[in-house]
Amino acid sequence: MQTAANVVTKLMDANRDRIDIGSAVIHRLADMEDVTWPAAAVFRDLPPSVLQRAAETYPTAIDAAANALKLTFNSYIIKTPDYLCLIDAGLGNNKERLDRPLWHRRNGDFLERLKALGYAPEQFDIVINTHLHADHVGWNTVMTDGAWVPTFRNARYIVPAIELANGEARYQTDSNALHGAFADSVQPIIAAGRYRAVDLPCEIAPGLWLEPAPGHTLGMATVRLRGESRDVLFLADAIHSPMQLATPDLTSNFCVDPAQSRATRHRLLDACAGTNTIVATYHFPPPVFGHIVRSGSGYSFEPIT
Ligand SMILES: [Zn+2]
Repeated sequence: MQTAANVVTKLMDANRDRIDIGSAVIHRLADMEDVTWPAAAVFRDLPPSVLQRAAETYPTAIDAAANALKLTFNSYIIKTPDYLCLIDAGLGNNKERLDRPLWHRRNGDFLERLKALGYAPEQFDIVINTHLHADHVGWNTVMTDGAWVPTFRNARYIVPAIELANGEARYQTDSNALHGAFADSVQPIIAAGRYRAVDLPCEIAPGLWLEPAPGHTLGMATVRLRGESRDVLFLADAIHSPMQLATPDLTSNFCVDPAQSRATRHRLLDACAGTNTIVATYHFPPPVFGHIVRSGSGYSFEPIT
């Protein structure tokens, strides 16, 4: 018999990159890790005390001495008896990102590590783009015979309808939209007829939901896997840094609607706090799976161990 205590089975390695929820297996797979970004480039007007306090609690995510964040770019794989799904697609390889030197013409081993986990790209049924930013769509495509083609050639690519409409509108007037990612990572999926644009909320497979989380972009989705006894909530860019747990009002420079971003973050944290919902974070270094708990006037993250 399954009890609450054994539903979450901690299985794998010291990196805590896998959890099992009932019959679902969830892996974290990062495209890039340990990327140092100046804190002010992510959060302008950041009070030094907020950085310092968070650095003591989350030392792998914040380098207070350097006034910098350590960012990770995580994808998640969900395998259930019904489907194999990838949530978010990192930065990709060989992409021209002239205004983002760290992302420019990368040659990472994401696909090799995916295969080492036992998954071939052609096995995927679903690829979710939570939103159309360059660091979430890169592995949508690979260069084959001089053309960008879908990496996951048998998958339906799921995207919030608002995201796709807004992205197409921008691309009409700016061929370099999304630092070039619309042209090389989104447009080829449209051309191949692989996108399914959905209105939110939407159950895209049994127990797998896209839910609205606007503010970072206007159409961004979080992803919820509904388990028998608990949910896993994939937060996308609703929260960029652990600093935003203690200080949920802190909003990244990349959020198009800061007030809406704040409201979404407060709503999600309030809904998760003190529950058995497991959250999975996009830009946090490991450990990435944990629970939200109330702490003082804000929240904190308790990793699953
Ligand atoms: Zn983003």
